[in-house]
Amino acid sequence: MTGNTDSLDLDAEVVRICRELIRFDTSNFGGAADSANERPAADYVMGLLQEVGLEPELFESAPGRANVVVRIPGQDRGLPALVVHGHLDVVPALAEDWSVDPFAGELREGMIWGRGAVDMKDMDAMILTAIRDLVRRGERPRRDLIVAFFADEEAGGRYGAQWLVSEHPELFAGAGEAISEVGGFSTEVDGTRAYLVQTAEKGMAWTGLTAHGKAGHGSQINPENPVARLAQAITRITEHPWGISYRESTTELLQGVAGMSGTAFDPQDPQPQLDALGSAAKWIGSTLSTSINPTVLKAGYKDNVIPSTAQARLDIRTLPGEHHSTLDTVRELAGQDVDVEVDVEFEAMESPADTALVAAMTSLLKEEDPGCEVLPYMLAGGTDNKALSRLGIVGYGFAPLRLPADLDFTGLFHGVDERVPVDALTFGRRVLSRLLAEY
Ligand SMILES: [Zn+2]
Repeated sequence: MTGNTDSLDLDAEVVRICRELIRFDTSNFGGAADSANERPAADYVMGLLQEVGLEPELFESAPGRANVVVRIPGQDRGLPALVVHGHLDVVPALAEDWSVDPFAGELREGMIWGRGAVDMKDMDAMILTAIRDLVRRGERPRRDLIVAFFADEEAGGRYGAQWLVSEHPELFAGAGEAISEVGGFSTEVDGTRAYLVQTAEKGMAWTGLTAHGKAGHGSQINPENPVARLAQAITRITEHPWGISYRESTTELLQGVAGMSGTAFDPQDPQPQLDALGSAAKWIGSTLSTSINPTVLKAGYKDNVIPSTAQARLDIRTLPGEHHSTLDTVRELAGQDVDVEVDVEFEAMESPADTALVAAMTSLLKEEDPGCEVLPYMLAGGTDNKALSRLGIVGYGFAPLRLPADLDFTGLFHGVDERVPVDALTFGRRVLSRLLAEY
């Protein structure tokens, strides 16, 4: 079994792989086929898997847009397979805002710095190290593992998970559950670490508004001005009281935090529990209601010309079960002169928290970090689990990291000076190794 030296070697390996992955600039500028180039990083991942004797496959959805998949047969092939996935792309980084080169993978102050350090080359490195260790030791996991590294997550997965699910669903045959990013990290509640396992994701609808009206001279009184109509529609939509509404994941989380912080949970006022969650509060707060943010405005071309149309974009994030009713309400609020068109949409998901997989995550975390709590939570954003859910695969966010209390972890996602503590990464590698072998 694993001796001390082995464990130190694996700690060194996960750090090395994470730093090397960061050095591949896989910035995803969004949308188009050529908006990112994951191929060199995917070739590197292929090499790491081949080095231990695995036979991974590389799938290009467009030139340079590469995905890597390998299946590791389990001891009991009758059990549903577990998909373990990461994405290789990152959001862009503006180097002049950073204290370090975002693509150098620097190690300083006990942390690995760089774009992707938490989203999600850290988890990619943990998966790779765990899998390589398992295979090198000649062990077989309990169930089939389908290990996937996707392109294009940061732009919705059109050249990554969504494409692979459409074009190569056979790769995921027999899979029941999946684990990936943005869950399993710790936050401190009243001096005790709580690990938040992601069991739900809000839905999204990227939506265009087009207000129609009457073009004309800017000196004339024009009750059909589309710019004014658009502004009124946006005001109605953003001022609409969407209201707090709980799901299983949010209720269980806030009740857990209430217990840990000695506060009473009043569903009408979750503020005491949000306060107790520290820097994670802003993430959790946005999972208690639908949210709508206008993000783009376009109208007109000259000061004294009223245009015939005006346009806006909305980023709508919906709670599980409210996706369609929310969009109906947006259409009503927009009014008869404003067209509403949803261009990109993914419905929300909620996975059960009372499963053997969540129980295994919980008991491993409690063994590796005695005294901790483990609670479910809903992610306000989305992950590639949404694509896999099209195949009936139930997804969770579990990239375990034991974090220092003073680190504003949630603020590092897509943030400046993104970084991950080495201790957190090596802790996560240990937990993940055991989960992948034993579950
Ligand atoms: Zn991510």
